[in-house]
Amino acid sequence: MYNYLKNKIFPSFLFILIIISLLLVGNSLTEFFTKGDYAKLEEEKYIILNEDYKCIDCNVIIIGIDTLRADHLGYNGYYRNTSPNIDEFSNEGVVFKNTFSQAPSTLPSFATIFTSLYPIMHKAQIENGPVALSNESKTIAEILKENGYYNIAYTGGGQVAKEFGLGQGFNIYEGNVCYNYITAPLIKKGVIADLKCLEDSIEIVMHNINLNKDRKFFLFFHNYVTHYPHVLSTNKYSIFTDYNNIREEYSNIITDPLVVKNKLVEDINNGKIKMNNELKDYIIGRYDDTIYYMDDWIGYLLEEIKKSDIMDNTIIIFLGDHGEEFTEHGMIGLHSHTLYDELLHVPLIIKYPKSKPKVIDQQVRLIDVMPTILDILNISIKEELQGETLIPIIQGKDKKLPVFSSLEYTSEGQPLKISIRKDSFKLIYDLKYKRTELFDLSKDKNELNNVASKHKAKANELKKELLEWYENNKNYNMEKEKIHDATLLELKSLGYIN
Ligand SMILES: [Zn+2]
Repeated sequence: MYNYLKNKIFPSFLFILIIISLLLVGNSLTEFFTKGDYAKLEEEKYIILNEDYKCIDCNVIIIGIDTLRADHLGYNGYYRNTSPNIDEFSNEGVVFKNTFSQAPSTLPSFATIFTSLYPIMHKAQIENGPVALSNESKTIAEILKENGYYNIAYTGGGQVAKEFGLGQGFNIYEGNVCYNYITAPLIKKGVIADLKCLEDSIEIVMHNINLNKDRKFFLFFHNYVTHYPHVLSTNKYSIFTDYNNIREEYSNIITDPLVVKNKLVEDINNGKIKMNNELKDYIIGRYDDTIYYMDDWIGYLLEEIKKSDIMDNTIIIFLGDHGEEFTEHGMIGLHSHTLYDELLHVPLIIKYPKSKPKVIDQQVRLIDVMPTILDILNISIKEELQGETLIPIIQGKDKKLPVFSSLEYTSEGQPLKISIRKDSFKLIYDLKYKRTELFDLSKDKNELNNVASKHKAKANELKKELLEWYENNKNYNMEKEKIHDATLLELKSLGYIN
C-alpha cells in the first residue's frame, strides 16, 4: 500500500507541487512585471508624458482683447457667428470655457494677468484715484527679460497706458496704438470710423513679429475694439445691426452708423432715454459687430503668425480682461461696478507647441495665466505667485480652483465688493453695506435669485473662506508709484480717467 502510494501518489504529488511552484513563480514573475518594473516603467512613462508640454525658450504672444465676453463667442455656444476665426483657433489649442477675471475692469485685471497677484494685493486701479502697478511688483515681462527675452507691447492705451505701470520689463511699450491721444477725441465725437485703428495696429504687430522672430520674444497685443464706443472701420462689419431701422427714432443720438456713442449708453443708464427692445438689440448687435470685426483681424494675425514659421516655438494665449453688461442686472454698456458673471466670464485659449486640442470645463482664473506660461517655459522664480499653473488641469486633474474677485478700491483703500465662486455657488459680499448675495449657479446661472437665507450653511462657509482670503491679502502694501499731475490731466482730458 505504502509503495503503491509512494509509487502512484508521490509522483503525482511531486507533479502537483512542481505545477504549484511553477504557478507561484509564474505569478511572482507576472506580479514582478505588472506591479514591479512594469509599474515603474508606467510611472516613468507618466512622468515623461507629464513633462512633454515644456517649451524652453519659446516665444510668448498674449492677445488681450478688452471687454470681450466669453459667451458672445461662437466656440462658447453663442447663437451668432461672431467669431469664425477664433473658433478655428479654439480647435487648435486648449480652450478654458469657464475662465473668470479677478476684477471687472481693465487695469486691475491686466495687472493680475501680468503679476499673478490678486487686485487686493497689487492694488493697481483707476476708480477713485488712479494707482499705478507698483515697481515693487515683479511682472512676467521683467521675468522674461531676465531670461533673455525681448519684450514688445502694442496696446490701446487708456488704463493699460505705460503711465499705469504695465510697461515694466518691456523693451518697447507702445501704449496708444489705436485709441491714442490723437484719435481718442475723434472717437468720442464719432468721426474716426475710417481710421482703421485695429487694422493698423495688427500690421504693426506683424511687422514686429517678423522683425524679431530670430530672437526669443514676448509680445503683448491689446486692443479696445470691443469696448465702447464700438467703432467699426467699414460697413462690411455691420452684419448684426440694421442702422436703417433704428435711426429715425434715435437719429439725434446715433448719427454715425459705425459708432455707438458713449452718450447714448450714459443717457439710457441715467434714465434720460427710454430703451426699447429694438434699441437694446441694436446696442448688443453693434457689440457683436465689433467682435466680428476683431475676429476678422485676429484671424489674419494668426494666419500671418503661422506663415512666419514660428508656430513650433511659440506659445499663443488669447484672452479677455473682463466682460460687459447688457441689462442682465439693470445697466447697459458698463463694467467695473459689479461682480456678476457677465463682467467676469472671459475667453481663454492657450496654444503651445506640444498642446493637443482640448476643451476644459472646470473653472480657472486669469491669475493662472502667468504661472502656466512660466511652467511651459520651465522658468522658476523665487517670487510667490498667487495663481497656479493650469498644466495639471490640462493633463486631467480636477483642481476645483476657487475664483476670488474684487471691485476697485474706494478712496479709503478698501474694495467695495469681493466674491468667491466655488462648488457651483457664487457668493458676493458687500464690504461697505455688509450685504451677502449667494447664487446657486447650477440652477441660476444668471445670478438673479439670492439664496443666502435658503442656504445658510453654504453662505456661511463661503463667506468665511472669502473673508479669510481678504484678510490675508488686504494689508500688503506695495510701494506706490507717483503718477505725474500732467499725465493725470492729459488722461482726464482724454476720458481715460474721471
Ligand atoms: Zn478692459
